Amino acid sequence: MVYRAVAAGLLVAAAGVPQTPPPIGYSDTPVLPGQKWRVHDIDRPRPRAITAPAEAGKPPSDAVVLFDGRDLSKWASEKGSAPGWKVENGYCEVTAGAGSIVSKEKFGSAQIHIEWAAPSEVTGASQGRGNSGVIIMSRYEIQVLDSYNHTSYADGQASAIYGQWPTLVNVSRKPGEWQTYDIVFDAPRFEGTKLLAPAYVTVFHNGVLTHHHQEIIGAVVHRAVATYSPHAPEEPLMLQEHGNKVRYRNIWVRRLTGYDQR
Ligand code: MG
Repeated sequence: MVYRAVAAGLLVAAAGVPQTPPPIGYSDTPVLPGQKWRVHDIDRPRPRAITAPAEAGKPPSDAVVLFDGRDLSKWASEKGSAPGWKVENGYCEVTAGAGSIVSKEKFGSAQIHIEWAAPSEVTGASQGRGNSGVIIMSRYEIQVLDSYNHTSYADGQASAIYGQWPTLVNVSRKPGEWQTYDIVFDAPRFEGTKLLAPAYVTVFHNGVLTHHHQEIIGAVVHRAVATYSPHAPEEPLMLQEHGNKVRYRNIWVRRLTGYDQR
């Protein structure tokens, strides 16, 4: 057995009997299929250490915080001006007619956390009831809608991949209550005009799985079948203005990195 990293020597037990310390890895084990590393490889890079959030849902240390409740300085209006949404009491709120907002920073494959609340007073009907959307890469919409006891079409309900896939379950909270999305998004890949790999998305709505690595058909569209058009590897995150006073808070994004990346 080769315990290369334990050259520090022998441990001495309380009783005075020398003991060999446990190995911190191996270099005589088989190579893992499809990987460059051995089983328990002593040389494999240890994962990059980050600081966990103090409470669940808060950003870990490597997250890009896009909205912490104070201002929309990380955002612009899709119209090219400053975002015209209201900010108060730790949240921002859609202003009808102000347009959707887009993050100044661009992202591809990412983990996204976002919290939202539909208006507590139910006024509109069907897709006019608390409609907004988390539009990843400004193209792929995870629907925001007041879907509590709601009968609008299935692929338009809250956390649906709009116009493509309904959710596995409807885990919506009552209007006015804060809800969470935790999204893992794999960006599509293109070579020139050719689609090499579609996008995939996993979504937890209020902590419950609503999409499990689901393939996205294409960019969001209404009353038509979505298709892909080539775009850059990173694009802004968009929050949709659909005329309803939906609120958002605690928005952060982590770019996905692969294994063995420091
Ligand atoms: Mg929408």
